Amino acid sequence: MPINKASLLVLESFVRQRGAKGEKKLRVIFLGPPGSGKGTQASCLSEKFGIPQISTGDILREAVTNKTGLGIKAKEYMNKGELVPDEVIIGIIRDRVVQTDCENGFILDGFPRTVVQAESFDEMTKEKNIPVDVVLSLDVSEELVVRRLCGRMVCKECGNNYHTEFNLPKKKGICSRCEGKLYHRPDDEEDVVRQRLKVYKETTEPLVDYYRQKGLLSVINGEDEISNIFNQLVNVLEGVREN
Ligand code: AMP
Repeated sequence: MPINKASLLVLESFVRQRGAKGEKKLRVIFLGPPGSGKGTQASCLSEKFGIPQISTGDILREAVTNKTGLGIKAKEYMNKGELVPDEVIIGIIRDRVVQTDCENGFILDGFPRTVVQAESFDEMTKEKNIPVDVVLSLDVSEELVVRRLCGRMVCKECGNNYHTEFNLPKKKGICSRCEGKLYHRPDDEEDVVRQRLKVYKETTEPLVDYYRQKGLLSVINGEDEISNIFNQLVNVLEGVREN
């Protein structure tokens, strides 16, 4: 049977939306204050749904470690708990979301963080025809965030997180997963944490309403057990994928 142009267009639009295997793509934005646990959850969701976690914080930290031009520029903002300029971050995301591993979707962890970034991402997604499906937001109180971050220890090798109070490694200062060395992020010092939270409240929190108005928002209590939070997030994403 010959395929006419109309049915070809319908098929193309289906594949664009669902991928060649018929699965709906999942393009997810993850909001939440620093220390809300969104990095940990995004990493587990990435594994569960087979889509990459794109953490702007991780991309910048890698650039700082490698002392690239981007890293040298970003380091001074990061160590003070300030945001890296919008145009730098937007450029990173513009290049990243078109890479082949994003074909079935992605989880943005730490982007957007300003209204300018969100508006620019809206334009980008329209232009590239990669609409966002859902915005997850983890809700956690400020005091819990400070406690979590000030005690956080991170593995230099695999990025696994520990805590001096809630989640000790088997051997002090050593990652239980890969034996890498643990370190305390310079921006997890209390004064910097307070500054990061101030920036979050003033600049990033307005995005919760921004996405609520677009009908994309799903808020989850980030103070629950890690596994309960994960199950709730999975339910949300499975619901999105089935629709
Ligand atoms: P994170 O690991 O997400 O807490 O990010 C660590 C630091 O990287 C932030 O405090 C900012 O200095 C910088 N950063 C990460 N993502 C962004 C973003 N979307 N816009 C501006 N700065 C960012």
